[in-house]
Amino acid sequence: MKKITIIAGNWKMNKTPKEGKLLSKEIVNSLKGVNSVQVIFSPPFTGLNEIKTSAPFFKAAQNCHYEKSGPFTGEISIDMIKSCGATHVIVGHSERRKIFKEDNQTINRKVLAVKDSGLIPIFCIGETLEDRNNGLTEKIISTQITEGLDGVDSLDGLIIAYEPVWAIGTGVAANAGQIKEIHKFIQNVLKNIDKKHYTPVLYGGSVKPGNSQELINVPGVDGFLIGGASLDVDSFVSIANVMEKNRSN
Ligand code: PEP
Repeated sequence: MKKITIIAGNWKMNKTPKEGKLLSKEIVNSLKGVNSVQVIFSPPFTGLNEIKTSAPFFKAAQNCHYEKSGPFTGEISIDMIKSCGATHVIVGHSERRKIFKEDNQTINRKVLAVKDSGLIPIFCIGETLEDRNNGLTEKIISTQITEGLDGVDSLDGLIIAYEPVWAIGTGVAANAGQIKEIHKFIQNVLKNIDKKHYTPVLYGGSVKPGNSQELINVPGVDGFLIGGASLDVDSFVSIANVMEKNRSN
């Protein structure tokens, strides 16, 4: 079975709908030959409708509410996201965990709701620097997985993004050895949930054109979740081309 390779760009709170449309168009035009890599754009909610995609290009929301509708001022439901043509939802990004105080239980409700709707969660996990320095990386990650995926019995239609918090937006990516070790650990934890389905595990944290060649060749890396470099056409296209070259044979 050929494993899929994924590049997902998390635009965070950047780009108006008009700017996002332009950015996505320029990227799509520059990546015409790409077919071994799935490309996912994750604009703010307001930009989802403006971006037109067809495979291998897809759209993801950056968050969702787990309820279908109701008195949740400021929130967006999965049906609303779906109606904009999105196929994926990022769940549990470290900024949601830290700034918006989302815990594993809230994230679990979101994962279950996204899966239930037929969309694909991009479920983010990762340790802080303090966790790592205290030797808690594996404990934190296995808890995030087991609590975040509680009640999930099939891993079909799920993507995991391993994003060490200390590597996000810092310019300091995890090194190849650290990534290899944790991706292997993640797959072992996942085997306890569902042995049948392979779950793609993306790496995220300061991926740039300059380190993409090394990192895409790390065993267990099925692609990248990219923040800063996804806002720049040349950087994002260059990383996607490196991935295509390394994965097409
Ligand atoms: C992210 O926000 O998910 C991320 C990986 O950001 P950056 O690539 O900027 O480190």
